[in-house]
Amino acid sequence: MTEEEVSCLGKDRYPTRRAAKKDASRIRRTGGPNLRPYPCRYCGRHHIGNRPGNATYTRRGTPLQELIQP
Ligand SMILES: [Zn+2]
Repeated sequence: MTEEEVSCLGKDRYPTRRAAKKDASRIRRTGGPNLRPYPCRYCGRHHIGNRPGNATYTRRGTPLQELIQP
């Protein structure tokens, strides 16, 4: 699994930072992790994740650690 797949392909895309931030707030309100919006270097849109450029959650909220084995 490449970095692009991790930080971009498997995640929801938002057209603006505002949209990403709004969804991040919704997830946090519903008991999810505190995610941060970040601009994507691959698709030019925005995603949300624990750290900019280091997405740890996919669109269904599955921890990335379960998807990638060291
Ligand atoms: Zn992307």
